[in-house]
Amino acid sequence: MILPADASPLIISVATTCAATAATFFLGMIAARMMYRVRGGFRAWIDGILTLPLVLPPTVVGFFLLLIFGRRSLIGRGLEHVGVTIAFSWPATVIAATVIAFPLMYRTTLGAFDQVNPTLLEAARTLGASEWVVFRRVLLPLAGPGVIAGTVLAFARSLGEFGATLMLAGNIPGRTQTMPIAIFSAVEGGDMNAALLWVVLIVVVSLAIIRLLNVEKRSRIMARAEPDLSRSEFSGQFPVAVVSSRENGSAVKLDVDLERTLENFTLRIALGARNGAVGLLGPSGSGKSMTLRMIAGVSTPDRGRIVLNGRVLFDSAAGRNIPAASRRIGVVFQDYALFPHLTVADNVGFGLARMTKDERRARIWNQLESMGIAELAHRYPRQISGGQRQRVAIARCMAMEPDALLLDEPFAALDPHLRRRTEEQLRATLAGFNGPVVFVTHDMEEAFRFCPELQVLDSGRVIASGPKQELFERPRTVAAARLTGCKNIVAACRVGNDCVEVAAWQCRLQAAPEVPEALTHVGFRSHQLAFQRPADTKNTFPCWLVTTSEAPHEMTLYLRLHSAPSSGQPPHLQADVSKEVWRDLSKRPQPWHITLDPTRLLLLEE
Ligand code: ADP
Ligand code: MG
Repeated sequence: MILPADASPLIISVATTCAATAATFFLGMIAARMMYRVRGGFRAWIDGILTLPLVLPPTVVGFFLLLIFGRRSLIGRGLEHVGVTIAFSWPATVIAATVIAFPLMYRTTLGAFDQVNPTLLEAARTLGASEWVVFRRVLLPLAGPGVIAGTVLAFARSLGEFGATLMLAGNIPGRTQTMPIAIFSAVEGGDMNAALLWVVLIVVVSLAIIRLLNVEKRSRIMARAEPDLSRSEFSGQFPVAVVSSRENGSAVKLDVDLERTLENFTLRIALGARNGAVGLLGPSGSGKSMTLRMIAGVSTPDRGRIVLNGRVLFDSAAGRNIPAASRRIGVVFQDYALFPHLTVADNVGFGLARMTKDERRARIWNQLESMGIAELAHRYPRQISGGQRQRVAIARCMAMEPDALLLDEPFAALDPHLRRRTEEQLRATLAGFNGPVVFVTHDMEEAFRFCPELQVLDSGRVIASGPKQELFERPRTVAAARLTGCKNIVAACRVGNDCVEVAAWQCRLQAAPEVPEALTHVGFRSHQLAFQRPADTKNTFPCWLVTTSEAPHEMTLYLRLHSAPSSGQPPHLQADVSKEVWRDLSKRPQPWHITLDPTRLLLLEE
């Protein structure tokens, strides 16, 4: 191919496109980062304005640019005073291409940012990362492919820019005549061969550079040197207590009193935790995660106070709100929120950026060893199992030696077999932790096993709290009884100090503790029902079997009181009995007799 005598359009186009792509890259990135924080109706408006150059005809954009930068405009005249003329100069080609290409970069980058799981950013903040570090080490690498795509699109658009360039920069050969304008000029002058040459050239250059930018990048971050931990042996044992430099003995305390209203949901919670775990038990959607997020500082309450070890972290009355990065509160997020682009070692070392390299290496090593995951140091989160991920998440927040620990359903992502095994490990880790722990779960058995103190949360309100034994033995409300696993709950009314009437069961029941005036329901735990031979024991009734459901070690019996069930009649009660009891019971003729021990009857309020 023979280049036309004057190669200047090629040089001008390349220079313009490179300068415009660089400008677009930075402006687009800044705009996307700023817009990323903006939410609500406001966002749609600004977004529309920033995207306008993509939608308007380029000549219209060029016209506006002329109004702004033209010789008669305020800016144009101001610049002329200092000897700078924009209109019909080379910088005008850069400005025109930048304005036209900007929306592609901005939009694609914002889309890529929006795809990044926001919990990862929150996790980074709880690990002490500043907003700049969160951007550089989490948001940008994870949005990388989108940012590259945006840059490529912006480059291609700059290279092809014609209308706005012609309006603002004109068609001055050797100065503002880019390749697209040269094509137009050549065709207008009847020189089809010259036009064809430029067309071929522009296609070749476009393809070449797009191909170049699309080459698979090996992530710099992945290649970063980290301590060589791969030599270690997998201990295969339960972890030893995690090393903590904090002095033992001082009673660390977390006091929380918070309120927050979202569209259809209000959360009000007060809880206190000393050294040891306080459990937050509640069904899905009751506000457990929200509570943790507010304590960690990644979400701001409307009102309230958070005090950790005498340090006021949040106080709405005093206008105080310590950012998450400075709270020193470790969070194990529900799905662990490991950084997918970082190795296990880098994940664990994420919160240790301020240490020297040697200190960091020692700390990472220590954590990985104590959690029994040293052999996984160089793997990525996608390359390890669910149980291992949980240990990495725990190691990551323990590595920064937090003052308090928040665990959001740490076992929810694990299958039941793994759950039991990892429970032992977590118990050992928590035993070595000297500080308050808030343990969130929807599983009442897990709550019972882990937490001496419990708060029961329902629809954003604490409906019961206290020592676990008391809570499980004497729940006071229907919701608390249900959440602590009571399966037989039925409407009832008080007919005396020690007597209730249960219409649905067609009977009156004796109650041992005094029946509260506000009683609306009674409950009876399914494994506390006793079967015995006819006797004049209190609360004993004849019953018939409606149906059964078999578990490996237990049998659930669905029963009807007073008379044999005719077809379609639902059961009144369910009873859980061991296989031994069932074997004995199934041989006996019906009706059997069932006793609801008055001391075990739960007296409940709605
Ligand atoms: P849990 O962890 O107990 O399952 P969450 O704390 O995640 O519950 O959520 C509590 C309630 O708050 C839910 O009803 C949920 O729909 C609502 N919610 C959570 N986040 C938001 C949000 N960003 N905007 C509006 N509602 C939300
Ligand atoms: Mg949750």
